[in-house]
Amino acid sequence: MTKATWLGLGVMGHPMAGYLSKFPGLDLTVYNRTASKAEGWQNEYGGSTAPSPTEAGQEAEFVFSCVGNDDDLRQVTFGETGAFHSMPKGAVFVDHSTTSANVAREVSAKASEMGLHFLDAPVTGGQKGAENGQLSIMVGGDANAFQRAEPLISTYSKAVKHMGPSGAGQQTKMVNQIAIAGVVQGLSEAINFAQSNNLNIPDVLSVISKGAAQSWQMENSGQHMADRFFDFGFAVDWMRKDLNICIAEAKATNSPLPIATLVESYLGELSEKGRGRNDITSLITRLED
Ligand code: NAP
Repeated sequence: MTKATWLGLGVMGHPMAGYLSKFPGLDLTVYNRTASKAEGWQNEYGGSTAPSPTEAGQEAEFVFSCVGNDDDLRQVTFGETGAFHSMPKGAVFVDHSTTSANVAREVSAKASEMGLHFLDAPVTGGQKGAENGQLSIMVGGDANAFQRAEPLISTYSKAVKHMGPSGAGQQTKMVNQIAIAGVVQGLSEAINFAQSNNLNIPDVLSVISKGAAQSWQMENSGQHMADRFFDFGFAVDWMRKDLNICIAEAKATNSPLPIATLVESYLGELSEKGRGRNDITSLITRLED
């Protein structure tokens, strides 16, 4: 039996932990800050629950997390009730949250001091990718620790790649977010334009998604955008977190981000209107406010 732990059962973590729980010979314990979500997960998948990351990490050879921002990661790792305090020497902590590369390096250094390994392993593929076990995952950190964790990570992914030392996974995720920002704004303008011209949206999406305008966002969210349905997916406030990380990193390396910076300000407008939990494709609503 291999003992493993999952911390954070949100939109992404809940289905990811579900796939992991089916790995042969795995004894999985889950923790969620809001305990009712852990109980809900246990009713669906079995396994055990624990009341804190420290208690969840006991005897675990692998601990996985999918939480929120830099401070959330600090709390569940080396914070007062973090998993690092109980994980056995040599164990591997795999973080799937999107954070700064700096915090990944900071947490990795703490892990080394405590005889543990830390991998920054952010994901892309959205809620749908998590629910279908088809995420794409970019990993930074020690190559041997990556090799040990890869079979487990593969239970919820279609592609997993080791990108380099600690922080390289998060830097790759920044590239992903910069690329997405402009695409979602462009798609918002396109669908809004199509509706203003009374075109048949399913027909428009069907024909142009087979040509040069095709994108993951168009295929997975185009119709939701036309229907103005945003109660799912990747929250506006999470994308603001990510773009602010990208903007800070870009300043340090002198790479201009004019569009990503603009889109971050547009998302800020939505957030100020109380729409921070809506999916990022709600950018289209800004065009009609
Ligand atoms: P979510 O639905 O808001 O879930 C966040 C989870 O983290 C919840 O279980 C929350 O617990 C837990 N959490 C947050 N702060 C914590 C803390 N300080 N201590 C303990 N638990 C904490 O978010 P999500 O959409 O799953 O996203 C999670 C991460 O994945 C984020 O870093 C996000 O940027 C990234 N991501 C999301 C998507 C997406 O499409 N949603 C795609 C790629 C990457 P509670 O239940 O108690 O709040």
